[in-house]
Amino acid sequence: MSATLNTTATAAAADSDTCCAGPLPVLGRDVTVPLVTGGEVPYAALDYAASAPALQRVWDDVAAYAPYYGSVHRGAGYLSQLSTDLFEQSRATVAAFLDCRPSDQVVFTRSTTDSLNLLARALPAGCRVFVFETEHHASLLPWRDADVSYLDAPRTPAEAVATLERALADREPHGPALVCVTGASNVTGELWPVRELAAAAHAHGARVVLDAAQLAPHHPVSVRDLDVDWVAFSGHKLYAPFGSGVLAGRADWLQEAEPYLAGGGASRTVARHADGGVDVDWHTTAARHEAGSPNVIGVYAIASACKALTEAGFDELVAREQHLIARVRAGLAEVPGVRVLSLFGDDAPRVGVISFVVDGWNSSHFAAALSAEYGIGVRDGLFCAHPLVRTLLGSAPQEPGECGSPEATAPGAPSLNAIRVSFGAGTPDEHVDRFVGAVRELVADGAKWRYHQEDGRCVPASR
Ligand code: PLP
Repeated sequence: MSATLNTTATAAAADSDTCCAGPLPVLGRDVTVPLVTGGEVPYAALDYAASAPALQRVWDDVAAYAPYYGSVHRGAGYLSQLSTDLFEQSRATVAAFLDCRPSDQVVFTRSTTDSLNLLARALPAGCRVFVFETEHHASLLPWRDADVSYLDAPRTPAEAVATLERALADREPHGPALVCVTGASNVTGELWPVRELAAAAHAHGARVVLDAAQLAPHHPVSVRDLDVDWVAFSGHKLYAPFGSGVLAGRADWLQEAEPYLAGGGASRTVARHADGGVDVDWHTTAARHEAGSPNVIGVYAIASACKALTEAGFDELVAREQHLIARVRAGLAEVPGVRVLSLFGDDAPRVGVISFVVDGWNSSHFAAALSAEYGIGVRDGLFCAHPLVRTLLGSAPQEPGECGSPEATAPGAPSLNAIRVSFGAGTPDEHVDRFVGAVRELVADGAKWRYHQEDGRCVPASR
């Protein structure tokens, strides 16, 4: 049976803008938020690196499917079969989006964090793991039960490759080994030399998992071209915020591992054993690690996003995003006391994720003022990449001071956390222009409102 649905796809850009084809339509474009200083403005969502707004196309596809929703893999009814078809077609769509090898498996998970934890649980016995300290905690922490080497932050892409080569040579793996690399940093937005790192890993017999959480929403990811063994990403960063993620890649380690979750769907047959126990014959397909009722809406939403981005064309999307990046970086460069965080330097290729600190400002205070006085949503903190951000800031772990307190943020003193602005396919020029203008104004004139700390964050004080 082949499932078909009528959807109102609107992948092409609708908003007019000054670069390229304009932003893709996303939900929330018309949402306005109140300002502490009075009035309302359209919300400028500039925290895509945390979670991107849903593409209108994804929302429309999900809404069109919703009445047909049914249980996956189990039901005999028409809608169950239709849902099962959509679920499996979505797997094929994701495999095509990632340019997977024919033998690769696409496992649906909850998120990148879930995907990497699944892979960590599937490591063969004695597996060595190599990971840079610069990774997001989702890539840094799952390997702690393995024989893991944490590699120092490199200062150039070439140094990253040399550091990995040295680590692999020093601890030459004689058995299974895994290198975990990120595609694009969630702090600096900088692209990592994935292909070169994969080549270095493979030369030493190690495998590679690519954390594409920040890469896949901005760039085409080809498993074959990058020659990585697995790739992980999250739907909610890819404009599909319905609770699904992906781990795609080599089947062997996954097939041989214990199921990630024990339960229905992962097991082919279960029989009571003569001695009173239970015998289980587990699936060897992706279903082995997808026990329980699958999140068919989340999976269908990811497939819809993959199609929407592919149809919009990554050449267009990248060109538009580079235009926005250039605008933000040029704007920030002109504001005195603003320092953009970078590992690989100004010329490094990057996605639309930019972190910075402002001399004399507690970052939480600055981010709170951007929100309360300009309707701009950014993020402040250490971005779940504590070792990297502290390396970039040159600061030791400690609590930030009071909002606006001079001792915590004296000019020249290391900042204790940073501000991150991030954007993507749905971002209009106006949002980044308003952001740059607001940074300029806050630095020149200070905040118009008073802020105080609540639960460690700066919030506007009530007057
Ligand atoms: N990896 C990177 C580079 C990220 O930026 C993030 C989230 O910000 C993750 C992994 C974890 O993603 P999730 O929270 O969707 O599991």
